Amino acid sequence: MAVEDFDLIVIGAGSGGLGTALRAAKYGVRVALLEPRQLGGTCVNVGCVPKKAMWYASQMAEAQDLAADYGFALTKGALDWPRFIVHRQGYIDRIHESYRLNLEKHGVTLIPAIGRLSAGRTVLVAGRELRAPHTVIATGGRPRRLETPGFEIGMDSDGFFDLRKLPAHTAIVGGGYIAVELAGVLRALGGEVDMYVRGRLMGGFDVEMADALGETMQAHGIRIHYHCQIVSAQRRGEQVVLDCDSGSQPGPFDALIWAVGRDPNSDGAGFDLAGIATDPAGHILTDEWQNTSVPGIYALGDVTNGKALTPVAVAAGRCLSDRLFGGKPQAKISYDLIPSVVFSHPPLATVGLSEEEAREQYGDDVHIFRQAFTPMQLSLSSRAFKTVVKLICVGDDERIVGMHILGPSADEMLQGFAVAIKMGARKADLDATVAIHPTSSEELVLLGARTR
Ligand code: FAD
Repeated sequence: MAVEDFDLIVIGAGSGGLGTALRAAKYGVRVALLEPRQLGGTCVNVGCVPKKAMWYASQMAEAQDLAADYGFALTKGALDWPRFIVHRQGYIDRIHESYRLNLEKHGVTLIPAIGRLSAGRTVLVAGRELRAPHTVIATGGRPRRLETPGFEIGMDSDGFFDLRKLPAHTAIVGGGYIAVELAGVLRALGGEVDMYVRGRLMGGFDVEMADALGETMQAHGIRIHYHCQIVSAQRRGEQVVLDCDSGSQPGPFDALIWAVGRDPNSDGAGFDLAGIATDPAGHILTDEWQNTSVPGIYALGDVTNGKALTPVAVAAGRCLSDRLFGGKPQAKISYDLIPSVVFSHPPLATVGLSEEEAREQYGDDVHIFRQAFTPMQLSLSSRAFKTVVKLICVGDDERIVGMHILGPSADEMLQGFAVAIKMGARKADLDATVAIHPTSSEELVLLGARTR
């Protein structure tokens, strides 16, 4: 078999792989991109994109209640799920097409098959052998499967996007952001939802904000059962019952979703043969330049143990190509102060440290500014949920190291503040900024004295 030479081989065409390949191709280098499934990976096909489409639909369902409170004479309608899915899929198909055209335009060789690293560091794919001085592993992750008896009765987040109608009553196992987001969507669209959470909701997030989110979710009718580990699931006719470690047997439910974490796709593709080091969970270890333990092989995105977010994978890939091919030897992503949003109901936006992390790092030098208020949009209705904003500062000059917002529009509020925080904003900079009135975001520049 003749070996085919490239300048760069990218394994996986999700967010990170596409970011790497397209940026490299713009520098005129020969790129091979390997992807056995649809272009766009998790984010486009079973992650951010279909999830956000469902979140928009569920926001509209909630807006009908709000509109009625405002005085609109309307009869609340249910989502025509099959029709919505046609729209959702149409949007995803257009994204696939635009990626395909972009890869074509930039001369990237797309090979629609699984790639495997050989011991000799070439890449084997669909009966071909490829070789390049640089190989990037961007194989992402997959929903975690547990050994729990009856696990196969339930679906994971990938399966959630195959649903063709609203389950009347769903059990969700897990308390991370995916569990929270799916619960919010199903509830807002009219389903009954019970969540089973082993420990805390949203582990790793600011505890006060996570608690506030949990309370709001419960006020929306989502039943959250804390400290309950599901030890088995069983069919009962068309339905499912669960066994909790406490001895209770919740159910029956019409659907069961496991949202119990994600595992990296680092197995079965020869990465071990090539000698690439991983952590105990299987994430490929890299330094801040995305170098793995093997020279010339890099990894980025969800297959590593960095923040599992699309923009992180894309930025890491683009920086790597800038460094390798674009004459920018210092290019690397800054993993500090990465903003993100949980698309819960309402959304939770966060950047920087939680109060707990800040106290661990800075001890008594931490100052908290917090405000809870009813957003004006809801003040005119019976659904008076509080918005909570929280600022975490350190030092006498009150440098901002964390900002957290829970409430309507939090998703669109944080990005601009994140820029200011990245630039080193102090609380005094917020105080010196004139408010935009009437908005929720003005509360962040009107925070006043320290809460603690
Ligand atoms: P992926 O996008 O997973 O792509 C990896 C690709 O590699 C896949 O296409 C796979 O088929 C391919 N592959 C695997 N093995 C091989 C092989 N051996 N050979 C060739 N190809 C291979 N992030 C956000 O920023 N915002 C959100 O709102 C958000 N919502 C999410 C919601 C859900 C339900 C989920 C599951 C994730 C969400 N994420 C979100 C996370 C985001 O999707 C990931 O962080 C992102 O997709 C990671 O990109 P990646 O390139 O590392 O991996």
